[in-house]
Amino acid sequence: MERTLALIKPDATAKHLEGAIISRIQESGLRVVAMKRLRLSAEQAKAFYHVHAERPFFGDLVAFMTEGPIVAMVLEAEGAIAKWRDLMGPTDATKAPKGTIRGDFGTNIERNACHGSDAPETAAFEVGFFFSGLELSGL
Ligand code: UDP
Ligand code: MG
Repeated sequence: MERTLALIKPDATAKHLEGAIISRIQESGLRVVAMKRLRLSAEQAKAFYHVHAERPFFGDLVAFMTEGPIVAMVLEAEGAIAKWRDLMGPTDATKAPKGTIRGDFGTNIERNACHGSDAPETAAFEVGFFFSGLELSGL
């Protein structure tokens, strides 16, 4: 069984889309093993997205990710990382197909409703960023 980190981003919580997104996750066969709602500080958002620190969009991305609450989840399934990224759709919501979460609920390449880890190493870092071992045991 594989685990991945999912975030419902501030654009989506502002539009009260948490329930719709979580329904799609559960209908797809991904199991929600942990979940919390929180608001990131700028320092926390910078640390979470540290791999993008040199990219031109980094400042705007940090501002976006701190503008309101997010929902963080750990999802579990066979092939959970790829499964969740398929369900989200591509980064740019204007190019994401209808039927994907980003295609249906996102706005543009930045405000794209959700996040998913892209590989086992990033999933391990990102799950540990939001959840402690205690929160993930026995689930
Ligand atoms: N992003 C952006 N402009 C870009 C590329 C990405 O604002 O040109 C934002 C967007 O919110 C994206 C996040 O930065 O989800 C992380 O980018 P990444 O390339 O890792 O895309 P993802 O893995 O989220 O599809
Ligand atoms: Mg990414």
